[in-house]
Amino acid sequence: MHRLGVDPGAIKVVFITHFHGDHTLGLPPFVLHRVFVDQRPITFVGPAGLEAFLEKLWEVSWGADWKRVMRPQFKVKYVTARGSGTAGGVRYESVKLDHGSMGSIGYRIHVDGKVVAYSGDTEPTAPLDKLVDHADVAIVEATGPGDVFSHMSWEAATKLRKRHPDTRFFFNHVYSGTVPGAVKDLQVIEV
Ligand SMILES: [Zn+2]
Ligand SMILES: [Zn+2]
Repeated sequence: MHRLGVDPGAIKVVFITHFHGDHTLGLPPFVLHRVFVDQRPITFVGPAGLEAFLEKLWEVSWGADWKRVMRPQFKVKYVTARGSGTAGGVRYESVKLDHGSMGSIGYRIHVDGKVVAYSGDTEPTAPLDKLVDHADVAIVEATGPGDVFSHMSWEAATKLRKRHPDTRFFFNHVYSGTVPGAVKDLQVIEV
């Protein structure tokens, strides 16, 4: 974030789609910054069980020092995602998506009069179309070619994009190969 000129202390709200490790295990270093460097308040929005899951993750990260030293300095609010609401001053709607046995919550986040849709992981089912419908920007998982269990294939992503021609799509998630034309790490895109 620092290398991109983004101030991590200025982030007011973090939206969590689901609790899989590739979507949550990057959080402890960010929280460390908010405990010791910049103590502005922060809100986490996510699925039911959010507070228990994240507090456990902080405890696994720092052991007994979490509760004894760090937690009292962490100005956090945990909010279970509703169908629509405002958190940390940010307006959002949420859509329940299909993703294996855990599921995922997609968010439509209102930023400066625009709508950014974010899926986390999802199968290409009807709720995903609802999530991205008429969004200005959609950041959506598309994991790889062919049969990808509980995720979206590139073929399905191509069809999704065709169904929503007014939305600008950014596809992400893990793939072991190299994709021609893909953005590079830390590349900034104007939208
Ligand atoms: Zn997942
Ligand atoms: Zn994932």
